[in-house]
Amino acid sequence: MRRSLHIKLVLIMVLLIVSLMTVVGAFLMNSVTGYYINDFYGQIAGAFGEDNVDFLRDLQTPTEGETDGAAMLDEVLSAYVGVLGVDGRNRNYYVLDGTTGRYLAGSSEAPEGGLQITPNISKALLGEVGVESDAAADYMDAAVPITRGGQSYVVYILDNRETAQSLNAAMFTLILEALVVGLAISILLSFLLSKTMVTPLQRLTDGLQEVAGGDFSKKLEVTSRDEIGQLTESFNSMAGQLQTTIAAVRNERNKLDTLFLHMADGVVAFDREGKVIHSNPAASRMLLRTFGEQDSYEKLFGDLFPLEQVEQVDGHLSAEREVAGRSLELLLAPFARGDQGGVLVLIHDVTEQRAAEQMRKDFVANVSHELRTPLTNIRSYAETLDESLPDLPPEMAKSFLEVILNESDRMTHIVQDLLTLSRFDSGRSELHLARFPFGKAVRDTYQAVLMDAQKHAHTLHLDLPDGLPEILADHERVMQVMMNIVSNAIKYTPDGGTIRLSAGRVEDRVWMEVDDNGIGIPKADRDRIFERFYRVDKARSRQSGGTGLGLSIAKEIVDLHQGRLYLVEKLTPGLTIRLELPVDGPRKEGGGHER
Ligand code: ADP
Repeated sequence: MRRSLHIKLVLIMVLLIVSLMTVVGAFLMNSVTGYYINDFYGQIAGAFGEDNVDFLRDLQTPTEGETDGAAMLDEVLSAYVGVLGVDGRNRNYYVLDGTTGRYLAGSSEAPEGGLQITPNISKALLGEVGVESDAAADYMDAAVPITRGGQSYVVYILDNRETAQSLNAAMFTLILEALVVGLAISILLSFLLSKTMVTPLQRLTDGLQEVAGGDFSKKLEVTSRDEIGQLTESFNSMAGQLQTTIAAVRNERNKLDTLFLHMADGVVAFDREGKVIHSNPAASRMLLRTFGEQDSYEKLFGDLFPLEQVEQVDGHLSAEREVAGRSLELLLAPFARGDQGGVLVLIHDVTEQRAAEQMRKDFVANVSHELRTPLTNIRSYAETLDESLPDLPPEMAKSFLEVILNESDRMTHIVQDLLTLSRFDSGRSELHLARFPFGKAVRDTYQAVLMDAQKHAHTLHLDLPDGLPEILADHERVMQVMMNIVSNAIKYTPDGGTIRLSAGRVEDRVWMEVDDNGIGIPKADRDRIFERFYRVDKARSRQSGGTGLGLSIAKEIVDLHQGRLYLVEKLTPGLTIRLELPVDGPRKEGGGHER
């Protein structure tokens, strides 16, 4: 940049000087020539003018006895050389024959080859005064016809313009010298200018390049108070502003990037042509694919809405799609409707939400069904009693009343279980933690169901090692869980079965396993038996007084203790269910409180 600007400066200076000198030179030389021409004709007019009658009279009046008029004229003219400016060298006078123009006399000899008959001489030969000037000619002349003693002559004044020419030549040399000096000065000046102008400009350019390269911390030194100084100051403040703005933008982008990266919802952004410009890990996870250059809106979501429709929409469009058994809700919306805009697709996994909705519906249907069955029974027995009480044998009436009581017990039972579950759901159910011997709890359960087991001719084994620790847990609830799983084993094992209760400790956890050789649970149902109201065989369960809520309540209780309740794989018929509890109670705050 320095070089080019410098060359430009030199060129401008050179052009300026050359053109200035040319104009001045041409003007001066023209003026000098003009001045000389004017001066010449001025002198001629003065000499031959009316103010100088003596001269004309002397020229025209012959002396007495005059024989050679031309010689006399020469005499008169030589007396007036001062007035005519004749110096005999550059300017001469000549006396010519008035009819032929032949040289007769003069201040100098006629030039070789005779005098040139100029237009002015021709005019004078015709009797007129010839004072026409010809700027293009290299001479100035004037021819005046004179009649003397009946003879006609022409007085001819010729100036070879040498004076003007030599002056012009001297001036030309002077101008050339001035030009050389001027050029030298201009080069020197352009160097100075380049120092004062180009150097700060160069620094500014370097600074701009660094800013363009991303280094906004660069501050340029302001060395002058002129326009360049102001430019440098503006540049500094602009760089500062840019630095803050870019930092703010970068911060904003980082925030957004982090948000995109960690948000649970998937986001895929497309440009106006439908090319993928951004996607987050959640989107890849949900749609089970990665996104690259080759992916387009058309390919990914074109089946839902055309891109143009999404670009035009106010707000957003929504759709649902199933991917690998999961329900995905898609929200499609345009962003920044300018040239840079595009379309954003937000993917929300609603599988749990949909499942929860379905579960709620099922639950309401189940509850209604479970309550309606005993209610119908109660109503029909009560109606029969009401209609035929006097005629009914007392035993039968008693048995009807028993059914009514049983059914209402069952309803109470269901309602109680539902209340318990609802307390778990709302987190209002607190554990009352206390230390109690785990082994004793298992033995107590065994004792409690022994009679019932014997009633069904089951063989009930208890396999209890010594030295089981005391555990921190809600005694009543743990007993409820144990009773539930052991009762289930009795209920769902045909009479005469074998049921084994065993317990033990592994590291900081105790366990109890209940194994039976009963009907077991088909593979398809194994995952679902902890669901509310889920029963493999509804009739059988209801018949044995089951509500289908026992295991779900047991699971909630065990979860609160941070324990585990699960089915153990077994190859022989029947079911093995295992309960595990931490010796020192739930670890986290909020699980319960010690009593
Ligand atoms: P219920 O009150 O019906 O017994 P639970 O929640 O306790 O309800 O049990 C859920 C279902 O799990 C039962 O209906 C039964 O089908 C199945 N089940 C539980 N324990 C056993 C077992 N030991 N053997 C076979 N099936 C069982």
